[in-house]
Amino acid sequence: MQNLLYFDICAIPIFLMILITVFVRKMTKGMTNRFFIALIVLSTIAAVSDVIMELACKTLPLSDTRLFVSDVFIYLYYVSRAGSVYIYFFFVFSITGTWYRVRPIIQKILCSIPFAAQLTLFAANPFTGMIFTVTAEDGYRRGGYIMLSYGISMMYALVGTLYLIWCRRLLRKQKLLSLISLYIFTAGAALFQFFFPHFLVEMIATAISFILVILFVLRPEEISDASVGSLSYRAYRTDLRKILMTKQRIQIAAVRFVNAYELRAYMGQDGYLNYMSHIIQQLNALFRKERVFFDIYYEDPANIYIIIEDTDYDVKECVKRFYGEFSRKSEKEVSASSRVIPKVCRIMLPDDLDDFDEIIRLGHEFADQMPPNQLYTDASEIMSSRDYLILSHMDIILNRAIQDRKFEMYYQPIYSFKRGKFISAEALIRLFDDEYGYVSPGLFIPAAERKGAILPIGDFVLEEVHKFISEHDLAELGLDYIEINLSVAQCLQEELPEKLAFLSEKYGVSPEQINLEITETTYENVSGVMDINLQVLSGMGYTFSLDDYGTGYSNMQRVSKLPLKMIKLDKSLVDDMRSDDGMLIMRNTVKMMRDIDKELVAEGVETKENLDHLESMGCHFIQGYYFSKPLSVKDFVSFVKRYNVGKGA
Ligand code: C2E
Ligand code: CA
Ligand code: CA
Repeated sequence: MQNLLYFDICAIPIFLMILITVFVRKMTKGMTNRFFIALIVLSTIAAVSDVIMELACKTLPLSDTRLFVSDVFIYLYYVSRAGSVYIYFFFVFSITGTWYRVRPIIQKILCSIPFAAQLTLFAANPFTGMIFTVTAEDGYRRGGYIMLSYGISMMYALVGTLYLIWCRRLLRKQKLLSLISLYIFTAGAALFQFFFPHFLVEMIATAISFILVILFVLRPEEISDASVGSLSYRAYRTDLRKILMTKQRIQIAAVRFVNAYELRAYMGQDGYLNYMSHIIQQLNALFRKERVFFDIYYEDPANIYIIIEDTDYDVKECVKRFYGEFSRKSEKEVSASSRVIPKVCRIMLPDDLDDFDEIIRLGHEFADQMPPNQLYTDASEIMSSRDYLILSHMDIILNRAIQDRKFEMYYQPIYSFKRGKFISAEALIRLFDDEYGYVSPGLFIPAAERKGAILPIGDFVLEEVHKFISEHDLAELGLDYIEINLSVAQCLQEELPEKLAFLSEKYGVSPEQINLEITETTYENVSGVMDINLQVLSGMGYTFSLDDYGTGYSNMQRVSKLPLKMIKLDKSLVDDMRSDDGMLIMRNTVKMMRDIDKELVAEGVETKENLDHLESMGCHFIQGYYFSKPLSVKDFVSFVKRYNVGKGA
């Protein structure tokens, strides 16, 4: 019989191992983890007491010492056992993300009354012997009320199990089963032990279910982001789902660092993460001082989300104070040039939004909708903006547009200084939606790229431009060629040369009448296919422009190696000519590009002043509102006819 004791002795090293694991894996922060630690500690005490009690009975001679020892450890055993069932009850609320249900003080007191009654029974036992007695004559004897104590523990277990089943949708199946297993295993073992008191299997059963919990439920790699010392983005998504399912009212302060990518490039990955963890530490300190319940999550590299449980808490006021404090402090630590620019959007759940994908998207996109120097906004404000409305209906808009061929091509004339007239035009796509009106390509092109709808749009553009050239005699209009924007996806299409050859044949358009615009981001993704496409198309007689030069990380060496005829200087470079530095940069850029034999188009020229400067610097072509906005076919044709007529070649 005595051998059976070993089951429970085995439980002790298992508990200790779990405890060590918890600390090694740094699972010590947060309520859930702290409950779990309390559980293991209580269970270890119970197991140790259990074993000592048994050993005392078996080995010590019957004496007062033996009685005293077993007395003490029996109490320890009962209290820690009952305590762990009580703690596990709260652990269940914490792990399901529904802690708010028991957080109010009244709820906590109500949940604790049975446990308090249990403790009172234990405390009274020395005088009443209601639960057990230990005497020299009879040894250990159960008292009449032991069933009451068991009953209370069973009640906690039953309510806990039912609660887990009730909110089963909040947990994945394996997690749910692991959590319930603790109840099933211990209840089974306790029952077994009740009828066969010599089989000490209760603690080993608990130990096994703790192993399941640590393997399947508490996975720190899913929850915390060690690189910055906060909760992870994955945890944010999990917690957000739980909050939405339980319709809990909370607010989220979504923070977006609008210059995160530049900062990271400047500081290096390690420096950047250090800086982020410094910010997160400060946020932690701030909210702790504010005495609100909060959690901070980090999404590399540009987002932090703070979930605040108190919906009355004034986030806007707090943001203001944080900016004040933080910029003063960080002034000393980082140079002004490398300071983050955080923008904050407050989302009220579920009032503002109750859809998971929309909340995630808003967190990523709200900053794009804010004016440059505005730092705080409410979700409701962003969501009522026209761009946001369009973006959130982009799927419908794009499907509708592709199906009904709702697109139209506009043409923006390009002026040549040397020839004193317009020599080409850029084809720019337009979309007029029946419901939302004009939808800017700046909005729908990136969306179409993300959603994989860019190829049919690109095909439409190619076809329309070829049709335009075939229907209008370019030479008669005084134009040499039309520029077409190619998206990344189009450049990576193996059949692109075939497509162009087919259209060229069908519409009788020669490759010299087409110039293809690619962007730096396009050729950064150089793949074999793209290289081959550029080569083959150049061989066929098509020319290429590099679009938006000056917005990315321009690399002269790469520029000089690609088969590019023209460089299009981005509007931002032109706008910067207001300052002396900007002027200098433009002058040098033009000179440099001319030195490597590139032709230059300045985009977004709006003023006579800039036009004159660009001419004196040696820029070849001008595109911009100064001459004309993009025009419909009809307007464009009459515009160039009027201007180009009699201007010779
Ligand atoms: P982009 O290729 O850089 O086109 C130039 C943009 O600058 C056009 O905007 C044009 O209307 C605008 N622009 C030209 N001159 C001025 C000026 O003086 N002042 C100002 N403020 N703006 C000026 P748009 O048409 O809204 O197009 C935006 C972007 O959408 C384009 O930038 C291009 O990246 C993309 N896109 C437009 N059409 C197509 C297309 O057919 N295919 C592809 N793949 N992308 C397109
Ligand atoms: Ca372009
Ligand atoms: Ca451009």
